[in-house]
Amino acid sequence: MHHPSPIKRRKSRQIMVGNVPVGGDAPISVQSMTNTDTRDVAATVRQIRALEAVGADIVRVSVPDMDAAEAFGEIKKQVAVPLVTDIHFDYRIALRVAELGADCLRINPGNIGREDRVRAVVSAARDRNIPIRIGVNAGSLEKDLQKKYGEPTADALVESALRHIDILDRLDFQEFKISLKASEVFLTVEAYRKLASQIEQPLHLGITEAGGFRAGAVKSAIGLGLLLVDGIGDTIRVSLAADPVEEIRVGFDILKSLHLRSKGINLIACPSCSRQNFDVIATVNALEQRLEDVLEPLDVAVIGCVVNGPGEAREADIGLAGGQPNLLYVGGKPDHKVDNANLVDALEQQIRAELARRASKQ
Ligand code: SF4
Repeated sequence: MHHPSPIKRRKSRQIMVGNVPVGGDAPISVQSMTNTDTRDVAATVRQIRALEAVGADIVRVSVPDMDAAEAFGEIKKQVAVPLVTDIHFDYRIALRVAELGADCLRINPGNIGREDRVRAVVSAARDRNIPIRIGVNAGSLEKDLQKKYGEPTADALVESALRHIDILDRLDFQEFKISLKASEVFLTVEAYRKLASQIEQPLHLGITEAGGFRAGAVKSAIGLGLLLVDGIGDTIRVSLAADPVEEIRVGFDILKSLHLRSKGINLIACPSCSRQNFDVIATVNALEQRLEDVLEPLDVAVIGCVVNGPGEAREADIGLAGGQPNLLYVGGKPDHKVDNANLVDALEQQIRAELARRASKQ
């Protein structure tokens, strides 16, 4: 069942990353980054397709040299999701990927060097309607800011961001979004809060080098969650030292928890205990695997016994309440009994029938 989010989002200007709007009233987009060698076109395309399959809105690809830029051109032809190219320093790479169809350039104007080079990149972006992402990172702050602040602080990150923004301002280029990433949650949150009130551009949220799968997911959920609850954030990336597909899944889980986005099955499951009438954990795991392909939003409750079963099952689109007998609920009402042996099949069948019914109504 639909829960509206109580969060009031910060007003931001909307930019387009390919056909995906970022900022304004657009849904908060979820992105990830490939970790293949970009020059390996086949491997990179395979990974981008895997990310598309789990619902990635945007994918970033690192382009460290000219060979990678040429490979990017091939990759771009083979995938549909908008691609952000990650470039550091070398303006010629930015010009080349702009020609080859990049949907966004991640490049910091202050790092490009001479003014004619900055101008060249900005006019290539302007001519082709490509936005820029400024990415400030605590690990690579300018030397003079490191000296001035002694260590990366929120003010140091914001000052660095404002320098890059200033360069784009002077060239009258407003189509950009910005990130201020650090690996420390409080520092990141403070920096974004400070910048959010000073500019109107969309913000790309992330905690950098968040860690391995579990710790990184938790850290990102807390850091991004604090900002999202404040209404800050237009696109998010969860950085995990893990398969990028997991970054997309965790990203959507964060947004789903805050009712900011609904995509795919929202599984409400009890942790299970000795009262359970069927194996809740095994059922949930099997169901999650079978329904990986589903991108449409649907609330499904799987609850082990009558303590919480009927209540939760009534609130979900499809619900299973364990008991004697187990009852399957559809649209908030008990529908039919299901044996323990058929639970996963029965749930999948009911879910797919409900999705088909909704699709035929559209
Ligand atoms: S709903 Fe029932 S089975 Fe699940 S945790 Fe609660 S008491 Fe245990």
